[in-house]
Order: sequence, then C-alpha cells, then structure tokens
Amino acid sequence: MTNETQNELVFLPLGGSNEVGMNLNAYGFGPEHDRKWIIVDVGVTFGDQSTPGVDVIVPDPSFLEGENILGIVLTHAHEDHIGALGWLFDRIKAPLYATPFTAFLIREKLRDHNLAEDVELNEIALGGTVNLDPFEVTYVTITHSIAEPNGLAIKTPLGTVLHTGDWKIDDEPVVGDKTDVAAITKLG
Ligand SMILES: [Zn+2]
Repeated sequence: MTNETQNELVFLPLGGSNEVGMNLNAYGFGPEHDRKWIIVDVGVTFGDQSTPGVDVIVPDPSFLEGENILGIVLTHAHEDHIGALGWLFDRIKAPLYATPFTAFLIREKLRDHNLAEDVELNEIALGGTVNLDPFEVTYVTITHSIAEPNGLAIKTPLGTVLHTGDWKIDDEPVVGDKTDVAAITKLG
C-alpha cells in the first residue's frame, strides 16, 4: 500500500526495453508527485521498410518534460544509446555523464547540433561513481562490441538496480576490458 508522501523507486522505460534500438529509460525516486529522475541513455533507432521515408526515429520524452531530472547517464557510445541527444536535449535538459570514449563522441554530436556550449558533459572514469542524490550510480565494466561498454549499478535508499546496458559475456574481448565479474558478484 502506498500513500502520497511515501518514497518509491520506479522504472520508466520510454524506449529500448523489449525492443531493439531507441534506448531511453529513467529511474524515479520519491513520492508520486515529487519524484527526482535520472535518465539512462538517449538513443535512436533507424527506419526500415516498414517506415518509408524515415531514416531515424527518436523516443518520446514527453513524460519527463518539466520533471526534476538530476542527470542523464550514458552507458556506451552506440547510436541507439546516445544518438538522440542532439534532438532531445532541449526537452530533457540535465547534466550528462559518460566515460571518456563515449564523452568524446557525444561532444561531436553536440557540436553538430550547436549545443556544445549549453550542455554540461562530465567525464567519468571507468568504474567511477556519480553521486546524484538520492541515486548513486557506479559504472561497471562489461563486454560488448564497442570501446567502454558499461553497466550501471544504481544505488538508492530503497535498493540497488543493476542496469546492464548492452552486454555479452566475453572473456577475450577485441576491445576493452573483461566484464568486471567481481563488481557484479559483490553487488549480488
Ligand atoms: Zn550497443
């Protein structure tokens, strides 16, 4: 049973959950009418035969517009995770957090959209932690098909969420480090 002043931890999948591409997920903390949010990834998906004339599709962030967004945390540099930042940033303004390789590519993207001056882009070391009270977000190294793929351990007063991002278990990755099994085990 909940009441209007009770803190809750909620997950809001606006894109990319149960579908490929266009990742935009958010976590909210607080009572129903006074939540603080973090956004994880802001990606695109690409048009195909079913969407004639449409090259790129972005998620719909309407639900989050005007909300208290503490930060936008990017897991890795694939277009389906960062590709919509240029188009959607004005609607979900908040500081960005990414590891160095991802941040480099985001910077280029923001420049293309003339946003480089307006956006606070914070570089976080691999394995680093971002404090977005009441969220504490720690980057967890995983393996995938690009440099610096990360999962996120999202700690809150109501529990910890492991947001995996895109991953596979690969003990001999072509780029980057092996999945940080010790960190994940410790979370468990
Ligand atoms: Zn990916």
